Amino acid sequence: RIVAIVNQKGGVGKTTTAVNLAASLAAQGQRALLVDMDPQGNACSGLGVFASPQDQTLYHVLLGQIAVDDVIRETDVPGLSLVPSNTQLVGAEIELVSELARETRLKRALARLSAPWDVVLLDCPPSLGLLTVNALTAADGVLIPLQCEYYALEGLSHLLKTIELVKGSLNDHLHLDGILLTMFDARNNLSHQVVEEVRQHFPGQVCETVIPRNVRLSEAPSHGKPGILYDVASRGVQAYIALAEELMKRWSLPVRDKAA
Ligand code: ATP
Ligand code: MG
Repeated sequence: RIVAIVNQKGGVGKTTTAVNLAASLAAQGQRALLVDMDPQGNACSGLGVFASPQDQTLYHVLLGQIAVDDVIRETDVPGLSLVPSNTQLVGAEIELVSELARETRLKRALARLSAPWDVVLLDCPPSLGLLTVNALTAADGVLIPLQCEYYALEGLSHLLKTIELVKGSLNDHLHLDGILLTMFDARNNLSHQVVEEVRQHFPGQVCETVIPRNVRLSEAPSHGKPGILYDVASRGVQAYIALAEELMKRWSLPVRDKAA
């Protein structure tokens, strides 16, 4: 199952969700692959993986120079692997413009994955450019993180329109897997209002699990670790574990032995 984590708004928790959900799924025994689709390479650094300018990365995969199997890196989380990216990826958006079938590059690359992954997560950049369109074209579902703050819904209709466009032209089985509310602050009235408003607007489409604002989640990346290896007892990490359990049911992922 391939899931794109998308929101063109910056800093809403896409990468935090991608890294911590992927690590939690792996901890539940799922064979998880995370694809860093952002030239910022935040998913890489959050997992302690460094892709130097000489390394082969997603950029070379999208340009058809190398198979995706050959750039996959292991992480410190058993069962979780990563397709790395770095600033090279900025060039892909430009270089692919003149190429044929540029929107289906990622889809075709992932179709050639040899290992039997249970779940592939795509951490998208904060734009609706060609990289995000590649992710939407390759994905079965979309997970949209929304920050519990004023203007949370701003830009969402544009995003939903883009999803419909991709669905209509490039990927007819794409659907919305869920809206995930992030950085919820229980002491803040606004947070509660946003949760209520989003649930009203999108009945049945909002994940039951809400991710709290939690400093441990924001500290972990600077140690190059997903939350689960940094402070598993923290509320933020426990929320991502609950989210993994919720989505495993929703996605009908196979039940496997949990990682130690
Ligand atoms: P970008 O659009 O730049 O890729 P993003 O949507 O991937 O951003 P993140 O990088 O995950 O967003 O999060 C933005 C900032 O908020 C980071 O500093 C991150 O550590 C912090 N953050 C994310 N989620 C939480 C949370 N639940 N509690 C506290 N801090 C958080
Ligand atoms: Mg990010």
